[in-house]
Amino acid sequence: MDLAGDSRGSFKRIALLFAMEAEARPFVERLGLSQDAAFGDPRLPFVHYRGRYGNSLELLLSVNGRDPRFGVDNIGTEPATLNAYVTLRGFAPQLCISAGTAGGFRSRGGAIGDVYVSDRPLRFHDRRIPLPGFDAYGVGSYPAAPSGELARAVGLKQGGVSTGNSLDHTEKCLELIERGGASVKEMEAAAIAWVAWCLGTPFLALKAITDLVDGEHATEEEFLRNLEAASRALGEKLHRVLEYLDRGGGQAAV
Ligand code: SAH
Repeated sequence: MDLAGDSRGSFKRIALLFAMEAEARPFVERLGLSQDAAFGDPRLPFVHYRGRYGNSLELLLSVNGRDPRFGVDNIGTEPATLNAYVTLRGFAPQLCISAGTAGGFRSRGGAIGDVYVSDRPLRFHDRRIPLPGFDAYGVGSYPAAPSGELARAVGLKQGGVSTGNSLDHTEKCLELIERGGASVKEMEAAAIAWVAWCLGTPFLALKAITDLVDGEHATEEEFLRNLEAASRALGEKLHRVLEYLDRGGGQAAV
């Protein structure tokens, strides 16, 4: 799969998937996107926004919404998977972007506020199945569109993105992240990449670093301290990604 767009060779319908409302807010407000309550399935908690960008882009931005029992955002792979299906099926985008925050690694050159774009297949680090065939299935490795030209044009770091359902990690998680060469740890991207792969939609992950997994601070404290600033940085870069696509960037494999 490459970043080759539709038959006219460009990406004009873009789906943006976010887990948390706080991650999406700066971007939704800046673009003045309006909620589309008629999209999707009203029984599900997802919140969908529609909008246009520049001269040519049509956007559908979907956020996972809140769990009414726990009063928190629906983070992790299950809501991400279902929202991806509802969004991709209903909107039929030419490109799907999993946008959000993530943990970075100082040992791989990561710093708080960096924004990464995926540059290799998306992997899971918490699906350990030591059975022939299922071991590789567990890791996943779902394709990401090439992003080299986009990264240069917009000023993004490139790196591997690894997904698991915990904010913290075990030694085994770290070993699998290291083995996959990932620079970014989060909780949704590989699940969305699986749906995009099933439906034949090109996929990218765009992730802003809120915390350093191998830094000296507790992840949860660092995450909450940096969530707002990282989400602003994410919104800023996303804006520039759309500018690039609106100009016709991404037409050829990069
Ligand atoms: N207590 C927080 C929970 C956020 S969990 C709150 O509700 O305010 C973290 C979210 O940010 C997930 O959606 C995940 O994709 C991303 N994330 C940020 N840093 C992460 C890390 N170090 N590990 C895993 N996910 C991380």
